[in-house]
Amino acid sequence: MQEYSFDDMAAAGLSRIVAPLLAWYDACGRVLPWRADVDPYHVWVSEIMLQQTQVETVRPYYERFIREVPDIASLAGLPEAQLLKLWEGLGYYTRARNLQKAARLIMERYGGTFPDRYDDIRALPGIGDYTAGAIASIAFGQPVPAVDGNVLRVMARLTGCRADIANPKTKKLFVRLLGEIYPKERCGDFTQSLMELGATVCLPNRPPLCGQCPIAGFCRARREGSQGELPVKGKKAPRKTEDKTVFILICGGRLALCVRQSGGLLGGLWELPNQSGHLAEKAAVAALEKWGVPPVSITPGPSHKHVFTHIEWRMKSYIVHCAAPAGGFVWATGEMLADEMAIPSAFRPFLRAFLNGREES
Ligand code: SF4
Repeated sequence: MQEYSFDDMAAAGLSRIVAPLLAWYDACGRVLPWRADVDPYHVWVSEIMLQQTQVETVRPYYERFIREVPDIASLAGLPEAQLLKLWEGLGYYTRARNLQKAARLIMERYGGTFPDRYDDIRALPGIGDYTAGAIASIAFGQPVPAVDGNVLRVMARLTGCRADIANPKTKKLFVRLLGEIYPKERCGDFTQSLMELGATVCLPNRPPLCGQCPIAGFCRARREGSQGELPVKGKKAPRKTEDKTVFILICGGRLALCVRQSGGLLGGLWELPNQSGHLAEKAAVAALEKWGVPPVSITPGPSHKHVFTHIEWRMKSYIVHCAAPAGGFVWATGEMLADEMAIPSAFRPFLRAFLNGREES
């Protein structure tokens, strides 16, 4: 890996980016619901929701969550089914479970008050370096950098750094560099301004909008015309694929569901019965008979591809009408699906086939 020396950047005075970046953030920062205040609970919930998820997707989820679960105590006491229902469609459900684990821990250990020491924040379930930095700086005004993918990209381009940003050493260097220039009075705004620049100007996967960038005058990539080559990111292992056959089992206006094994992908969440591989109709009928739900009718249903971080499911389905609600499944009504049960996005296209069928019948 090509090593990069930061000495020239440090000598050039990275601190010169602070004032123009803050002025730009004051003028151009997006108005987002979680920026209305710096309540640690609000900052925390928003940062957890924003992990792996786009701002526009998070916005309505965040607003509803804060409305229905307004504080740490209510989160700690929330029934899990309700928590997962509020999270339904956001994905990465471990985030929600960890959020609740952390809320319970805060109730026990800190009497319901969010801890303000970085190490205590970092020790909470579901909180890594980035989120701890975001909470410490935004909610508590501490000079702790929060370096996510957006900030890594900005820093790599700004400094012309050709080191692999997936390498923890690179992140550590950026954390160190930024830690030296945090403006004491506006730590939270500085964190947010860096993230905002990465999200709206120094864009990923397309040309950055250097003409609108408040720190363009200090940017090495812009000076050298190397924006398109940066950041350098080591190749990820190719994503695995898995074929699945999903069964949309319907009986008397109810749909069969079961619970996924706890631990692992979507562990403990509801799913539609399914089998590995793309089963031909004969094999599908055999599986149904084994489950104790011989079909009255079976027709091919929708196909769907769902991409997770490390795996891709290629799903085909059968719509099956059964004579009796047997087979050890939970047979859910449309109302139960709407109000009580959280169904992961991977299975939602199949749910639609059931719900649309109800409307037609
Ligand atoms: Fe990114 Fe362009 Fe600004 Fe450099 S000048 S930080 S490449 S947007």
